[in-house]
Amino acid sequence: MRFSAGSVWENRMTVHYVDTHAHILDESYFDDYDEMMQRTEEAHIDRIMIITLSKEEALKAIEVKRKNPKKFQIATGIFPCDVKERDWDSFVEIAKDPMIDCIGEIGLDYHWEKDKDMQALQREYFVKQIELARELNKPIAVHSREAIQDTFDIMKEHHWKGLMHCFPGTKEMAREFTKLGYYIALGGAITFKNARHAVEVCEDIDIRYLLSETDCPYMAPVPKRGKRNEPSYIPYIVEKMAEVRKISVEEMADAIDENWTRFLNQ
Ligand SMILES: [Zn+2]
Repeated sequence: MRFSAGSVWENRMTVHYVDTHAHILDESYFDDYDEMMQRTEEAHIDRIMIITLSKEEALKAIEVKRKNPKKFQIATGIFPCDVKERDWDSFVEIAKDPMIDCIGEIGLDYHWEKDKDMQALQREYFVKQIELARELNKPIAVHSREAIQDTFDIMKEHHWKGLMHCFPGTKEMAREFTKLGYYIALGGAITFKNARHAVEVCEDIDIRYLLSETDCPYMAPVPKRGKRNEPSYIPYIVEKMAEVRKISVEEMADAIDENWTRFLNQ
């Protein structure tokens, strides 16, 4: 519990934010990486999960985490659109590293992949990676685009612990995922004018399953929409979530912070 006598006061002093999905090693930060990270300090983005989609990227993330293991978590996975290119054995080797916290982002993407055989291969790799995550006792971070029913069916049949990143479905669907114990991460889309689904999901599901994410450098929230995204924009997302839930930003951020700790320790 966070609400021990000492921490109440401390929590009121500053809001602590979490970004559960950030591609901070993306080349779009090569020129100003240090300044971008400095802004995460100023904005109190206390924990960031670095998403890595290649072995080289995962190795770089491990170097970043070594300098600040409290701040950084790392996910590594074979992205659905990369299933043909990645070498399984070298992926397993890096996934086993104790510095890797999570297997992701993995899942299904039928938006970019229309070929039926390739979609079948995506499902095969999704299942393989869930089973690897189980073997390694690490949670999964799941990407799902235009494939929510297949994603759900696989995550029900191969039930494990994990989160749905950038949740693309309805509140009814979100409820089904949380019934299985999966967390729901919401990002910049919730701040968009046409964000009916994301708003309803945020309003409706048990608050203990809600997480915040940027998916940077993509999906920048309003008022930064269209620009390069970065973890220091998380407060825009959490403010919107708090507004939707009709609670204070502090309460929303605290709930997410607790959820993230519980997620990592489940
Ligand atoms: Zn991503």
